[in-house]
Amino acid sequence: MLKDIKTCLSENIEREKVRKMLRIFRIRMQIRIICVILAFLICQFWVSSRGLAEETNWKKIESADFMVYCEKISQGRKVSGRAEKAFSGIVADLGYQPKNKINIYVYNNHSLFLKESPVGVTTAYSQPFLNKIAISITKESNLDVIDHEISHVVFLQSLPDTAQVPFWFVEGLAIFQSGPNQDVSRIESEVFQGEIGSITDLSWEKPEDSKAQQENAIKGYLIIEYIEKEYGKNTLRSLIKDLQRGDDFFTALEGNLGVSKNELSKEWYRYEKTRSKQMYMQNLQYIGFFAIGLLTLAATGVWFKNKWKRRHELEEEGGGEEEGKEENRV
Ligand SMILES: [Zn+2]
Repeated sequence: MLKDIKTCLSENIEREKVRKMLRIFRIRMQIRIICVILAFLICQFWVSSRGLAEETNWKKIESADFMVYCEKISQGRKVSGRAEKAFSGIVADLGYQPKNKINIYVYNNHSLFLKESPVGVTTAYSQPFLNKIAISITKESNLDVIDHEISHVVFLQSLPDTAQVPFWFVEGLAIFQSGPNQDVSRIESEVFQGEIGSITDLSWEKPEDSKAQQENAIKGYLIIEYIEKEYGKNTLRSLIKDLQRGDDFFTALEGNLGVSKNELSKEWYRYEKTRSKQMYMQNLQYIGFFAIGLLTLAATGVWFKNKWKRRHELEEEGGGEEEGKEENRV
């Protein structure tokens, strides 16, 4: 009996020991996990504080309408000059002057720029209601993106409700104001190769897909360009004024142009189809000129080669005769 009690007691003690050990093991594991999490958080804080340190290292250039923050003064000056040059024309066309100076951040560090970009991969973006433009300067940077972003800031600030104006019009207007660059011309020819479609098919909201974004923006630009060409600059200005008053988009469009949106779509479609045919013919002409040039070059090459060959043959014949004469003399 006593032996049984002793055995039972020792088993209990063993169990208690195992439980204790398990508890210690669990506590140790928990401490290790907490340590790993803390180390990770410290690393994160260190990395982000490095980014913030780079952010706070801005040099400031103030001009009449802009506050330019830059990492390199030479880049900041370039951007500031370009922005001031574009500003007055954009403001005059949109009939609206922003209340405050626009802040432009000029990044030299592209990865830092991308890290802070709210629109993903790009070289410039604007946040109109933060009164902010950001641009990443690379070696072959195109400064016309500044004009594009200024147009966004001024136009969107001038509207009582930005949701009332479609994405294609906002983007198209910015391209129209900054002038189409090489990228625009390339996408324009792609648009012509595909189906032009109707104005009402265009996306009101910003499309998710970047290709669809570009296509909508270019079509928007082509429509605005068409309105300015066929209906005049004053009609376009009057349309913008109505939008700034808060009028419904298609009511303002039809009211100012005096045609229905469907009629405008048809007109625009015919106009672009004619233009795309003209562009196609022009390209054919260029290809023709290029082919003629190549043929001329090839024919000249053959002519020179034959001439040289003939001369060489004549020289050889002459040499043979001379040798023959020598032989005779001997
Ligand atoms: Zn844009």
